[in-house]
Amino acid sequence: MNIILSKLIDLQKMDTEILNLKKDSLKIPLDINNDLTVFHAKEKQLLDTKNLISELQKLKRDQEREIETKDTEITKLNSQLSQISTNKEYSTLIFEIENKKKEKVKIEETELEVMYKIETQEKNIKNEEKIFSEEKNKMDKEKKIKEEALNKINNVIEEKIQQRTVLMKDIPKEILFKYEQILRSKEGIAVAKINFTREVCLGCHMSLPPQLINEVKPNKKLLNCDKCGRFLYWEDETHG
Ligand SMILES: [Zn+2]
Repeated sequence: MNIILSKLIDLQKMDTEILNLKKDSLKIPLDINNDLTVFHAKEKQLLDTKNLISELQKLKRDQEREIETKDTEITKLNSQLSQISTNKEYSTLIFEIENKKKEKVKIEETELEVMYKIETQEKNIKNEEKIFSEEKNKMDKEKKIKEEALNKINNVIEEKIQQRTVLMKDIPKEILFKYEQILRSKEGIAVAKINFTREVCLGCHMSLPPQLINEVKPNKKLLNCDKCGRFLYWEDETHG
């Protein structure tokens, strides 16, 4: 095989590896970010429940104050009973006291409902907090693993880029320039093999003139696809 062609094939393999590694490395921060978004949504849910509990507690305190006020009013009215002289005044006062008592019972009933709600929410939040802290631990661990994986990938990319530089030295500048130009404009593939069954360029998947295929087959010359411009080489079935 033409030595430059063989170097170009190696360079392409390396560039494909680098491209795939870069794709993988881009996925990791997105993945970490995604986990964090899910986590923040759960955190917000927990905070909402906490806020709900403190609102209910405030409501309960207000109701307790209202009950105290009713009690004071009832005591005051009761004390007025002894100073009453007429029956009419007496029944009016009794009616008023009874009304206050009814109002107090109503507040007490709603206070009970509020207390029940607080109890339920507190139970919920205990569970939620437990699950939340377990998930946080899990997420932190996974984040660490993902960050380590990212570091590893970045190191491999660095190594490959260095190996690439070595490989580049053996390729004439103008060929390298053309290679890199195609690489940039053709989705990272500058060297394509010919498919032996369909006889198409595997870069653009267009059929090639039989004359060109015959010229490419011995892999002795640097030839380019007449459709996409990629460097072409022939690979026998046995080599994959
Ligand atoms: Zn092509």
